[in-house]
Amino acid sequence: MEEEYSHSSTSPQEVFLSHTRRRFLQTATGLGAAAWAAPILRAQSQAGDPPKKIGIALVGLGKLSEGQLAPALQKTKLCKLTGLVSGHPEKAREWAKKYDVPEKNIYNYENFDTIKDNSDIDVIYIVLPNSMHAEYTIRAAKAGKHVLCEKPMAVSAKECEAMIAACRAAKRQLAIGYRLHFEPFNLEMARLSREKVFGAVKVIEAAAGFRIGDPTQWRLKKALAGGGSMLDVGVYALQAARYISGEEPVSVSAAWTKTDPVKFKDVEEETIQFTLRFPSGCVANCTGTYATRMSRWYAGAEDGWFELAPAFGYGPFKGRTSGPDGIKDIDLQNVNHFEAEMDAFAACLLNNTPTTVPGEEGLRDLRITEAIYQAAASGKAVALKA
Ligand code: NDP
Repeated sequence: MEEEYSHSSTSPQEVFLSHTRRRFLQTATGLGAAAWAAPILRAQSQAGDPPKKIGIALVGLGKLSEGQLAPALQKTKLCKLTGLVSGHPEKAREWAKKYDVPEKNIYNYENFDTIKDNSDIDVIYIVLPNSMHAEYTIRAAKAGKHVLCEKPMAVSAKECEAMIAACRAAKRQLAIGYRLHFEPFNLEMARLSREKVFGAVKVIEAAAGFRIGDPTQWRLKKALAGGGSMLDVGVYALQAARYISGEEPVSVSAAWTKTDPVKFKDVEEETIQFTLRFPSGCVANCTGTYATRMSRWYAGAEDGWFELAPAFGYGPFKGRTSGPDGIKDIDLQNVNHFEAEMDAFAACLLNNTPTTVPGEEGLRDLRITEAIYQAAASGKAVALKA
């Protein structure tokens, strides 16, 4: 995986929206059962043989790695779990046995940089607490590896810029773990908006959250999390507002609150509500919360509406639209989001094409997030550059 790839000048948002139509048609016509089928087929046909599998090392063997990523890597068609990075050697050795990873491919946070000498590993998947994303992305790029970094990309726009610069300098791809960009229900809903099937979307509501438990966890420590519910789950509502509207916000207003000042002493927000105003006049009311489970969004358009609930978890999802004969369910296949996300990135690397979820997409979210925090702190609307 030594080739240089060309950075696209098209905005990731445009790429996401332009891909939705083709992906939906594949799904609807039965040509491809899943959103990521097309890039895989290209990767296969280019090689003529079964494609080379991209080797992925997981950094941070916590809940997401254990519950979702390692199991998904047993099903991916284009990638394979080939490396483990952990601060707990015993755990890493158990994982290595379970997933057939050679012991020589186990690293810790101190010897991480020597991963540069390991040709089994093409991609470093960063699954660490948020404030560690920038450091490990930059170290991975310097080690000559491509990077898949979990959301939120980092804890500040400045960090995002440094991550993008490091990957660019190393001529390596940087993708952000926006799994819903590869999920058929979200793709279909973005198509309904983009093709104005119900007319122009005027109002969006999006809410993502869960009730947070253990008060000692890193998600409640600002130094590791970077913030509260906004960075962790508010980002899903923000993303939905952006890909449903198909626009970038020009101004934000926001308010935050906490019902348990002891548990949330180190972060500003247990719950955050923010309003995004888009150039067309479309408006999105969004919530991110650690107080209760929320997973839905609704798009009100000129001639109807469409909604997804659940919308942000690991599935299954349910979509509905208005219709002349009443409410209509959206009938699509539920897929494993992580399998789809990782195979899509592997296909980009095998086909030497740019990812549709690059660092620039994460940077946009962080810039808007910083404006949201500024608006919540000041109580005043904050303008954003279009
Ligand atoms: P966990 O706390 O379960 O795991 C994080 C892992 O990071 C730990 O197990 C540990 O692995 C490692 N680590 C290294 N240093 C620290 C430290 N100082 N404190 C705590 N852990 C440390 O977190 P999650 O797996 O839930 O989340 C990891 C990332 O994934 C976050 O950025 C989160 O936002 C993102 N995420 C994304 C989801 C999605 O749907 N896309 C869903 C859930 C999370 P080890 O013991 O191996 O060193």
